[in-house]
Amino acid sequence: MTVSGRPFIPVAKPLVGEEEKRAVLEVLESGQLAQGSRTAAFEEAFAAYLGVKHAIAVNSGTAALIVALQAHGVGPGDEVITTPFSFIASATSIIACGAKPVFVDIDPFDLNLDPEKAEAAITPDTKAIMPVHLFGHPARIDEFTALCEENGLALVEDACQAHGAEHLGRRVGSYGTGCFSFYPTKNMTTGEGGIITTNDDETAARCRIIRNHGQERRYLHEHFGLNWRMTDLAAAIGTVQLGHLEEWNEIRISNAEALAGLIRTAETPRVREGDRHVFHQFTIRVSHGRDRLQQALEEAGIGSAVHYPVPIHRQPIMQHLGHGDFSLPFAEAAAEAVLSLPVHPSLNPEDVEYIAATINRLAGVPA
Ligand SMILES: *Cc1c(COP(=O)(O)O)cnc(C)c1O
Repeated sequence: MTVSGRPFIPVAKPLVGEEEKRAVLEVLESGQLAQGSRTAAFEEAFAAYLGVKHAIAVNSGTAALIVALQAHGVGPGDEVITTPFSFIASATSIIACGAKPVFVDIDPFDLNLDPEKAEAAITPDTKAIMPVHLFGHPARIDEFTALCEENGLALVEDACQAHGAEHLGRRVGSYGTGCFSFYPTKNMTTGEGGIITTNDDETAARCRIIRNHGQERRYLHEHFGLNWRMTDLAAAIGTVQLGHLEEWNEIRISNAEALAGLIRTAETPRVREGDRHVFHQFTIRVSHGRDRLQQALEEAGIGSAVHYPVPIHRQPIMQHLGHGDFSLPFAEAAAEAVLSLPVHPSLNPEDVEYIAATINRLAGVPA
């Protein structure tokens, strides 16, 4: 309980019930704990959900990005164009392959990678483009698809926050090679986990080999790979969670619509026409006093989070790339202004009203 007498509203809350417990127990009792038939069943269900031919389950979203990049041959000497405004793994996965992330600025409309700026950054060393469907809103995926086709580049979609997001009725992660995370805060979880999605038979085959120590035949290693496998314990949870994903996404969307309708003192998320935003995060932008607002919300019993306070090109780990002085103004401005509010399916209508009323009381008023 908080000073307001209300239970604290966390910014994220995984939903796990009896079905998941039963599923895990069944796996434990079966004796097949590592990757096996339940992982295969989960892959089949996820591929069907997304509308793609193949899904390859791995042990994190980060693993999905690394394996997908390696399956497209990304390695030393290659450049991958990506966004500076994302979780760090979007860029460190590129570095893990020995390649160089090239950051270009975002589209201020939706805070996603700007395809026109990506096009201008293509060089003979560019091997892939990695847009991120940040917060659950599709990046301008038609334009990225065309750009990659015209230039012979791989399209790796970081859909780690966008399970079920759509552009013109087609799910993201089905345009290029899709990468999803099942970390507990995401729209569905397996504890830790990830999955790669593709319609391309060869990409899928390469992902499967890289996931399992680079072997096509046991103990014969013709390729480089590591252990990126998902456990059947995680897959059993994932199959149950996937069965709830659409219901949960719909609740997120209606919570977001209610919040956007009620909040008057901050900029609420924009959704491009033709897109389905699945609101992994409901991220407002405030023109000033963001950190003070976050503190005041905490005191009022409302959790919030800053995704993300430091753009990736400004991270200490990226300075060796020589980005020191160059500016990506839209990403830098976003990092100062954004604040994610609770939007998860555990909120009740009173929570939603309380969150909006508290924002209206606290935000947008200069000190
Ligand atoms: C969560 C996330 C990842 C990494 O996923 P993990 O499962 O935590 O490894 C990568 N990119 C984005 C945009 C994410 O939100």
